[in-house]
Amino acid sequence: MSENKPLVLDEFMNGLVRRNPGETEFHQAVHEVAETVIPYINENPKYRTAQILERMTEPDRTIIFRVCWEDDEGHVRTNRGYRVQFNNAIGPYKGGLRFHPSVNLGVLKFLGFEQTFKNSLTTLPMGAGKGGADFNPKGKSDREVMRFCQAFMTELSKHIGEVVDVPAGDIGVGAREISYMFGQYKRLKNEFTGALTGKALEFGGSLIRKEATGYGNAYFMEEMLKNKGDSISGKNCVVSGSGNVAQFCAEKIIHLGGKVLTMSDSSGFVHDPSGIDQDKLNYIIDLKTVKRGRISEYADKYPESKFHEGKRPWSISCDLAFPCATQNELNEDEAKLLLVNGCKGVSEGANMPTEEAGVKAFLEAGILYAPGKASNAGGVAVSGLEMTQNSIRLSWSREELEERLKGIMRDIHNQCLKYGKEGDKVNYVKGANVAGFVKVAEAMLAYGVI
Ligand code: NDP
Repeated sequence: MSENKPLVLDEFMNGLVRRNPGETEFHQAVHEVAETVIPYINENPKYRTAQILERMTEPDRTIIFRVCWEDDEGHVRTNRGYRVQFNNAIGPYKGGLRFHPSVNLGVLKFLGFEQTFKNSLTTLPMGAGKGGADFNPKGKSDREVMRFCQAFMTELSKHIGEVVDVPAGDIGVGAREISYMFGQYKRLKNEFTGALTGKALEFGGSLIRKEATGYGNAYFMEEMLKNKGDSISGKNCVVSGSGNVAQFCAEKIIHLGGKVLTMSDSSGFVHDPSGIDQDKLNYIIDLKTVKRGRISEYADKYPESKFHEGKRPWSISCDLAFPCATQNELNEDEAKLLLVNGCKGVSEGANMPTEEAGVKAFLEAGILYAPGKASNAGGVAVSGLEMTQNSIRLSWSREELEERLKGIMRDIHNQCLKYGKEGDKVNYVKGANVAGFVKVAEAMLAYGVI
């Protein structure tokens, strides 16, 4: 039967691109996985016969809806909302909501697909989903954000629930937005259940959820270095972004003795050669989360630093790099520049921040390179722990949660070692993809053809 012929990467990708026209980020994410997983599938034909990769690249369902709301001037505004329920083979759909003008179906399918592997790696029982809207919270008043979130949840609430689909935050969706959405969910359903994670502590949130993605990313780098008898201590580190992930990645780098040289936002980056210490970081956290200001203001406050308008931080010499802003924020030339300037490790806090040619450059150079689906899984892992705490109606302590997070990042690292060892090097891309694939694939095989 032709279905039992080995899978060929180009043929597989041609079919995927034809079925999903124009969804470039989705094509990119699938290509990166298929490249490493197809050889494994061809060695294990049971996955081929059952068409597991074909099924894993087709979401279970995609929900697209209109979101209508009123701005402060009383004008009616219309946005588009989405929820892509990608795969629930190993647990309820789970993944963030993104509010950003660049949101479209292709972006959310890339994120939902990546989430399948990431959630599998966490060792927790979570399926994969992703959603959001092309709404831009920047420049909107709190009331406008509230009205948007309520309108968005009015439709989304029909499709989620604690055992069905449990969304969380992502770009543009932080504590404020989650609170508005959870309030509306509770009102519509007349029930208090953990249908969203990233909630405030007062109503079912978990300690260290907001720190988890960034902390986890720094822990993952520490694990990779430890495996080579090294550590973050004393290293010069370049961080991009200044949102949730970047802030707490920088904080943990500081805790572990590293020096943070840069942070950025969509208008440029700041370079502080004397290092961004905890006090300066606290200023950035307040600036970005409370005052909702721009990173350029850092250079006004700390004159020893310099703001580089419209630039990304990859030209700054460093030992370690932590891309924590958004997808495709690090291209091939920038990857090569990092290598020339002596960078020995890259751990992705953002999802797919490095373009494929950049990833290739890192792998060819043999430096430590962790793809986001492994290194940023700490956020969804603590979301999983928030779900557990909600179910048993208990809250765990900060120490207990941080130990669990550390343990999960160590476990993800071990899974990468299991499938990614190549001589004395580790290919973390292959390791993460194959390890993430195997768990979901085995569950799908067990269910038969559904
Ligand atoms: P935030 O909205 O808190 O912060 C995003 C940061 O990235 C801001 O500094 C923002 O700058 C910058 N940014 C956004 N878009 C662009 C762009 N097009 N070009 C340059 N800079 C940009 O989001 P998070 O920190 O939550 O998310 C960051 C990344 O981490 C995303 O890829 C997300 O998918 C990923 N991630 C997040 C998780 C979480 O728990 N939050 C979990 C796992 C992954 P500005 O202020 O100018 O918009």
